[in-house]
Amino acid sequence: MTTPTDSVKDRILSLDPADLPAYVYDLAALREHAASVRAALPAGVELYYAAKANPEAELLAALGPYVDGYEVSSGGELAHVAKAVPGRPLAFGGPGKTPAELAAALEAGVARHHVESLHDLRVLATLSARSTAPGSRIGILLRVNLPLAGSCLAGSSLAMGGRPTPFGLDPADAETAASLLSADTWPHLELLGVHAHLASGLEAAALLAAAESIVTWSKALSARHGFALREVNVGGGMHVSYAAPDVLFDWQAYGEGLARITAAHPGLTLRIEPGRALTAYCGWYATEVLDVKDSHGEAFAVVRGGTHHLRTPATKGHDQPCSVLPYEPWPRPWPRPATDRPETTLTGQLCTPKDLLARNVPAPGLRAGDRVAFALAGAYAWNISHHDFLMHPHPTHHFLNA
Ligand SMILES: *Cc1c(COP(=O)(O)O)cnc(C)c1O
Repeated sequence: MTTPTDSVKDRILSLDPADLPAYVYDLAALREHAASVRAALPAGVELYYAAKANPEAELLAALGPYVDGYEVSSGGELAHVAKAVPGRPLAFGGPGKTPAELAAALEAGVARHHVESLHDLRVLATLSARSTAPGSRIGILLRVNLPLAGSCLAGSSLAMGGRPTPFGLDPADAETAASLLSADTWPHLELLGVHAHLASGLEAAALLAAAESIVTWSKALSARHGFALREVNVGGGMHVSYAAPDVLFDWQAYGEGLARITAAHPGLTLRIEPGRALTAYCGWYATEVLDVKDSHGEAFAVVRGGTHHLRTPATKGHDQPCSVLPYEPWPRPWPRPATDRPETTLTGQLCTPKDLLARNVPAPGLRAGDRVAFALAGAYAWNISHHDFLMHPHPTHHFLNA
């Protein structure tokens, strides 16, 4: 996964320097990966893609045949995804929805509303009372911040639940919401179940333990309030290893574990909504080395671009996996800056020491003009970056094997 496929490599090497940096997406690789994820999941488990990981329209469309729907978390994502993949089921969540966003979600006919607070529920109930046709009902999942037993979430890089956070309903508020909904306070709302996206960066065993706890808790909630538990959305958060990019999340084991859970609860639909683990691998951030220098005994290579385009290593504090693609033309009459040191730190063009893409990259012989392909740039990369800091040009975007 650190070495680009031939089509990605050919494209990177064929680009004019003026087209660099470039985001290059291999849509064939994305389709193949999504197909293998889908194949590892049992029937009865629905797969939604969390659009915030990467909402590029080409990626959303490429995922189409392999997903059951898309999870969106803002009015902007809602409008964009509804246009990119028209007619596909959407789940609308997120803390801090405005009344206008909720109205837009109702207008768009989203399949599921993920309710994050009692206030969120009341605004939704009020707005939808006016717009819902007689006899039809709005499908609701309560997003709950569950106190998970044991150390389920211990390995997580980012925990949204199991501790104080702004996400989801506190268990006591979830009881109130369930009792209001079960008492038919709002007959046009239908409580279908629970949503719990609790953490990010977990391996299959930890996510399965969390899923079991979520389902057990949800069953007990439905028993206390006398509603039929139809669905549980156990969220995303499947681990992507930036340190060992060839080691993928164990979808096989995860799928088998989910099958055991659904077998124990006939009639229950489980849903998952990964983002990162679906799209991270198909994207590459490609650029060229502008300059190479020694600084106090260490080698630095400054590349065109930086963390204003690929913020992932800065936000996660890792070294972005990469590979060097030697590039021959050097149409200048002086020698190419180069390094013989065994390791080089790759930085961007920003005037801040935080602009580090990868430290201690083994790249002896690295020269100015060589190209570098940063891997795992298909999720939480371009779309989370601070594009206009220092006013460098934006990268070009390429979608291969459409
Ligand atoms: C971000 C998010 C996801 C996806 O998380 P990944 O770590 O990218 O898999 C899923 N559900 C919700 C509610 C989210 O906020």
